[in-house]
Parts: sequence; C-alpha cells; structure tokens
Amino acid sequence: MYEISDDLKALAREVIVSHSNLAPLANGECRIAYMWCDAEKKRNGKAVYADTEKVNDKVKTVAGVDFVITFYRPNCAGLNDEKKRILMYHELRHVGFEPGGSCRIIPHDVEDFEDIITDHGMNWVI
Ligand SMILES: [Zn+2]
Repeated sequence: MYEISDDLKALAREVIVSHSNLAPLANGECRIAYMWCDAEKKRNGKAVYADTEKVNDKVKTVAGVDFVITFYRPNCAGLNDEKKRILMYHELRHVGFEPGGSCRIIPHDVEDFEDIITDHGMNWVI
C-alpha cells in the first residue's frame, strides 16, 4: 500500500535548500511525488530503503508529476533522522532535471564492494 507523504516532502525541501547542487529542483518546475510504501522491498537479496522513478509520459499526464520517490517503511524503520536525510539526499541525486522540462534518472557513480572502497578509495579504477 502506498501513501503520499507530506513529511517526506518537507524533508526533501529541507535537503534541497541545503545542497546547492540540488538547486534545479528548487524552482517548482520539477514535480516530485513522495510516498511511503508498506511493503518490504528487496533487490538481489538486499533491503531497498528507497527508490526514485521517472514516470512515463502517460503517468505524467494523469498524475502531474515527473518523478516518484518511494521510501519503504519496514526497511526504513531503523533509520534515525540523520540517516533519513542522507537517504533523501541520495534519492534526490537520482533526479536529473533540466529547467525546461527534460527529465532523466541519474545513475550511481559507483557499484563496488565496501572493502575495496575502504582500502582503495572510490576512484581506484581510474
Ligand atoms: Zn540510489
């Protein structure tokens, strides 16, 4: 079950104004819906805390949003406010929005193992 969340929207506003690289999201032109989901989502056996989706043109027309950010309640239950804030920042970094309306999902910079990043840094491959 999904629920539109004013709390997540307020958290997102707070995160957007405190990160200058998220400024394109602050002008109100980029429409993001924020939702809680009661399901416990997993991907490749690991808990998914939240995700960000770019909606297709049909849904965009019906719902009037460009992106949907969903937090999965059972997985987020153990996160304190600071971790929720970091999670929201993470999800907002996926939102690729150019003024004028072009939308895309920005992929992660790295997919790697924790011990390799710890030992060799994030850019070891370059
Ligand atoms: Zn991500």
